[in-house]
Amino acid sequence: MGEWEGSEGKREEFAQRLVSWFSANGRDFPWRRERDPFRVLVAEKLLQQTTYGHVLKAYGAFFEKFPDARALAAAEVSDIEAAIRGLGFQRQRARQLKELACSLVAEHGGAVPSDKGALLRLSGVGEYVASAVLCFAFGMDEPIVDINVRRVVGRLFGWRGLKDNEIAERLRQMIPPGRGREFNWALIDFSALVCSRRPKCRKCPLSDLCPSAEAGGAT
Ligand code: SF4
Repeated sequence: MGEWEGSEGKREEFAQRLVSWFSANGRDFPWRRERDPFRVLVAEKLLQQTTYGHVLKAYGAFFEKFPDARALAAAEVSDIEAAIRGLGFQRQRARQLKELACSLVAEHGGAVPSDKGALLRLSGVGEYVASAVLCFAFGMDEPIVDINVRRVVGRLFGWRGLKDNEIAERLRQMIPPGRGREFNWALIDFSALVCSRRPKCRKCPLSDLCPSAEAGGAT
């Protein structure tokens, strides 16, 4: 067991500093102001495999046209496709969004469930999106793991070779109670802006806690 894994105090320090860093440096996106579960769910689907800039261009008009699951379920695939033009794989994504909306209508009367098992049974919803909805829409302290989070915790904690659910359980212990949104957004932004593929260790607010700092964040 490495020093980081064994030191609860350092894990707390990490979480507190990360959240503080986010309050000064975090990014503001329209989907981060959303609490409506349908919008949060669809936003997460739109954000998959595309850039934030492309989603920003389509975001407002998309929800004007399809404000809820029933509207999206009733739409023609070609209309959905037109609304997400520029995101890539439009045809395939449009079909998936319609299927997702249809499953919400058929199984939940158009509402988004707040139960992880039910979310995972929806068409096209995997672990990342389900966790994001629980956290960002329903305010649960649910950890979210993706390749970028894996990179950060690998460098900071030496958590390598772990499955996503194992990392998630460790992160769950570190989320300051009631601050899951900020914690997850902080990790997303920190992994994009500081501990990126080419880490900016000299500007990193956690460098004194990080065993990879001297190696320039080499993984
Ligand atoms: S010191 Fe470097 S490798 Fe460590 S967390 Fe900061 S940016 Fe990442």
